[in-house]
Amino acid sequence: MAQRPIIILPDPKLRLVSAKIERVDDSLRRLIDDMIETMHEAPGVGLAAIQVAEPIRLLVVDVAKKEEEPEPQVFINPEILWSSEERATYEEGCLSIPEYYAEVERPASVRARALDREGKLREVLAEGLMATVLQHEIDHLDGVLFIDHISKLKRDRVIKKFQKAAKRAGDGSHVL
Ligand SMILES: [Zn+2]
Repeated sequence: MAQRPIIILPDPKLRLVSAKIERVDDSLRRLIDDMIETMHEAPGVGLAAIQVAEPIRLLVVDVAKKEEEPEPQVFINPEILWSSEERATYEEGCLSIPEYYAEVERPASVRARALDREGKLREVLAEGLMATVLQHEIDHLDGVLFIDHISKLKRDRVIKKFQKAAKRAGDGSHVL
């Protein structure tokens, strides 16, 4: 297993719509293992393949608490089948938008369908944090970021901040 670098804002790849996965094989399972390791090391509670620059519909989630055993879950080609009318607000962050947090309101529970790492179809009813994480990660597969759910004013501000940081990093080689 190996960790993979996580791409961050304003990397344009984050806006790609990821492609459906046609085959669940060993090479995909290697990527899954790398993503789980990357997510645990970060640490984060979810990671979409596009965040490690792979534009395919795959995500990993682990909402186990720090003192609990890790419990990574794999979702291949996930689809939301049903969302509750009831909504819930969580303070969200994203490994691709480091150190920025904002409250986002989403459906409080969702029913989703996906393939697991063996390629078997499964259905889950996600509630609480799991529901938020699943929706956040599935958004990534469609090029949507959690900052798209906040006000335009706040979003423009955070995008500008990351654009400046990227520019500074790019200029860095000339600073002596
Ligand atoms: Zn994210």
